[in-house]
Amino acid sequence: MVTRSFRIAVAAIGLAAVCGQANAWGYQGHRVVAALARAYLTPAVRMKVDALLAADTDPLAAHTMLEAATWADTWRNTHRETSQWHFVDIELDHPDLASACFGYPTSTRPASTGPAQDCIVDRINDFVAELADPATDQAERIFALKFVLHFVGDVHQPLHASDNHDHGGNCVQLSLGGPRSTNLHSFWDTRLIEAMGSDPQAIADGLRARVTPSQKSEWERGGPRDWATQSYGVAKASVYTLGSRPGCEDQTPINLPVGYEAAAKKAAELQLQRAGVRLALVLNRGFTEKPRRIRYWGT
Ligand SMILES: [Zn+2]
Repeated sequence: MVTRSFRIAVAAIGLAAVCGQANAWGYQGHRVVAALARAYLTPAVRMKVDALLAADTDPLAAHTMLEAATWADTWRNTHRETSQWHFVDIELDHPDLASACFGYPTSTRPASTGPAQDCIVDRINDFVAELADPATDQAERIFALKFVLHFVGDVHQPLHASDNHDHGGNCVQLSLGGPRSTNLHSFWDTRLIEAMGSDPQAIADGLRARVTPSQKSEWERGGPRDWATQSYGVAKASVYTLGSRPGCEDQTPINLPVGYEAAAKKAAELQLQRAGVRLALVLNRGFTEKPRRIRYWGT
């Protein structure tokens, strides 16, 4: 597929930060998701997560839950084989999760050595299963935790579960008035998060205060496949409503329609809330339940 090969090529020549899917949600968004999830962890699981992160010797990210949630994007800079694990390209004109996942499910042990051609849905399932498996050694368990912390956030970024043959919105240029411009992917990764504030803990606290018990239990149903499908639905309803054309040929900047940014911020907040609740769910299960109860595909 053109999109995937493009991304591989981009990664190979080190331009991911410019036009690849550099940092889903940006680092700040991942910190918000981790802070939200942390509040929903049981005290026992929170201690286990902290102890595992404290045993990590990798200096790429600080060994706190919030910073460890950003680690996978930095890791990717020197481990290009993990680039495609951060998203699933469900095409707007041909939504087919199985083909977007290269024919899932796959399962590899250790999961951190999984195939380069794999999607985020498979990767979450694999790492969550590994986290819960008592046979997993500590080094691999640390990998699994850090990937889970990150990928549950990524799959909730709508442009990490959708594509319009435009490299996940990277080819869609947006005019923000005057000389200011960005692209659709960056707009969702960082601009919307920046508009929420600068302190990830404060943003998370504000978002958590608005999660109702019925929303929480609704979001706790299903699994990664459902989350990706839902994220794709958000992309259709709230991201690709600009009238942008498929592909990368026409990159004339598009003016944001009236009301787009406000609606997008609402949708992004909802996705961050869902991600936080679901990250806590998989961690609470992963650190306390039996492996056979962990591997699930949702409905
Ligand atoms: Zn990522």
